[in-house]
Amino acid sequence: MEYDTIAAISTPMGEGAIAIVRLSGQEAVPIADRLFKGKKPLAEVDSHTIHYGKLIDPKTNQPVEEVMVSVMRAPRTFTREDVVEINCHGGLVSVNRVLQLLLQNGARLAEPGEFTKRAFLNGRIDLSQAEAVIDLIRAKTDRAMNVALNQMQGRLSKLVGHLRQTLLETIAHVEVNIDYPEYDAEEMTQGLLNEKLQFVAEEIKKILLTAEQGKILREGLSTAIIGRPNVGKSSLMNALVHENKAIVTDVAGTTRDIIEEYVNVRGVPLRLVDTAGIRETEDIVEKIGVEKSRQVLKEADLILLVLNFHESLSPEDENLFKAVKGMDVIVIVNKTDLDQKIDMDRVKNLAGDYPLITTSLLKEEGIDRLEQAISELFFKGGIESQDMTYVSNSRHIALLNQALNHVEEALHGIEMNLPIDMVQIDITRAWEVLGEIVGDTVSESLIDQLFSQFCLGK
Ligand code: GDP
Repeated sequence: MEYDTIAAISTPMGEGAIAIVRLSGQEAVPIADRLFKGKKPLAEVDSHTIHYGKLIDPKTNQPVEEVMVSVMRAPRTFTREDVVEINCHGGLVSVNRVLQLLLQNGARLAEPGEFTKRAFLNGRIDLSQAEAVIDLIRAKTDRAMNVALNQMQGRLSKLVGHLRQTLLETIAHVEVNIDYPEYDAEEMTQGLLNEKLQFVAEEIKKILLTAEQGKILREGLSTAIIGRPNVGKSSLMNALVHENKAIVTDVAGTTRDIIEEYVNVRGVPLRLVDTAGIRETEDIVEKIGVEKSRQVLKEADLILLVLNFHESLSPEDENLFKAVKGMDVIVIVNKTDLDQKIDMDRVKNLAGDYPLITTSLLKEEGIDRLEQAISELFFKGGIESQDMTYVSNSRHIALLNQALNHVEEALHGIEMNLPIDMVQIDITRAWEVLGEIVGDTVSESLIDQLFSQFCLGK
C-alpha cells in the first residue's frame, strides 16, 4: 500500500538539547533533499546512516538550522516506509521551523498515532502491539513498561494466534465432516472436538487470570486512606507522595475534597484517594465529603485504615473495620512517638488477617514497612515473573471474555448433542472475536478510534 508522506515533531514540546522531526512515506527522502545541504544528497547515502548538514529554505536560500539527518529506507523501518528523522536544536522555534519547511515542501502534518497506524496498516505490527505502544508511552512504572514491552513484542499476539489456529483446525474438521460425510478422514468425533475446545477455554481463562494484575499495573491501584479526623491521613498521603499536595491541618475534618495522587510504591502504581474521614457529621460541607468517601470506598482496590496510637479506640474506629469487611486492607497505627492510649490487643483482634503496621509519620518511621506490605499484598506468588503475558487492556479483556463465552456455548452445545453445524457457529464466532484483539477482524472506525488516542508524532 502507498500513502502520502507525513511529518510530525516526535519529541515532547519544550526546551531540550535536541528535538526530532520525523518524515515517513515515499517522498520522505526527496522532500528532505529539497532542504538539506550536506556532503552528498540524501538520495545517495546508504540506508540507516546519519548525516550532518544544514537545512536551507529554498525560498530565501538562507540556512534555517544545523541538523543531523537519519535516512532509513523501507522496509526495515518503524512504518515499513522510507523514514527520515531530522535532529535539530531542541527549542520550540527551531523545531517548528523545521516542521513548517517540510510542510511547505510536500509533506502533510501527521495525525496523532499515524506513524504507528502505518506500521499496523503495512503489516509490521498487529493491533495489540500498536496498542502496546500507547501503553508504553503512558507507563507509570518500570513494571508497567515491561508489560507493554512484552505485548509490543507480540507475546499476546502469539498466544491468541495459537488459540485461533486451534479453533480453525476444529472448524476445518467439522467442515470436512459436514461437506463430505462419506469421506472417512479422521472424523472429528464429539469427544475430540470437546477436548480441543476445553483446551482453548482453559488457555483463555489462564490469560484472563493475569488481567487483574495487568490492570493494576496499567491503571494503578485505587487506594483509599480512611480514619477518623486527625489520625494522620493527610500526613500518610504526603509521606507516600513525598510532596505536599494534600492539605495537612490540625483542625479536625478539614480535608474536605477528595484529592488524587499517583505514587510508585515498589513498582505498584497507587492511585491515592484521600477521603475526608468516614464518620457521621451534621456539617453540610463535611457531608458531601463523607458521601463521596463512601463512594470511593466501594471503588477502592486497597484500603489504608489509619488509627491513632495516642487515643483509645472509638466506636467510629470499630465501624470502619465493619465498613471495609472483605476488602484488601492494611491497618496502620500512627503516632507511636506519643504515649500509648490504644488497646493494641483489641486492634490485633479487629485487624485479624490484615497486615498491621505501626508508624510515626511525624518522625518518618514505618513508611518502609508499609510500602513493603503493599508490594507483598499485590505481588505475591510469582506474579513478578518477567515471563508473564499480562493482559491489561480492557478492550482485550472484554474480547477474551466474549471468546470464552462462545467456546463455552459450543461446549454446552456438544453436551446437549446439538447438530454439529450449530456448534460450529459458536466456534467461528470465538475465532472472529479473538481476531479482533490482533486486528484481523476489526472495523475501520475502531482502528481510527484506537489510533486517535496517541500523541502527535508517534
Ligand atoms: P488527618 O485529619 O487524618 O488527615 O490528619 P493529619 O494528617 O492532618 O494530621 C493531624 C495532625 O497530627 C497534624 O498536626 C500532624 O502533624 C499530626 N501527626 C501526624 N502524624 C503524626 C505522628 O506520627 N505523630 C505525631 N505526634 N503527630 C502526627
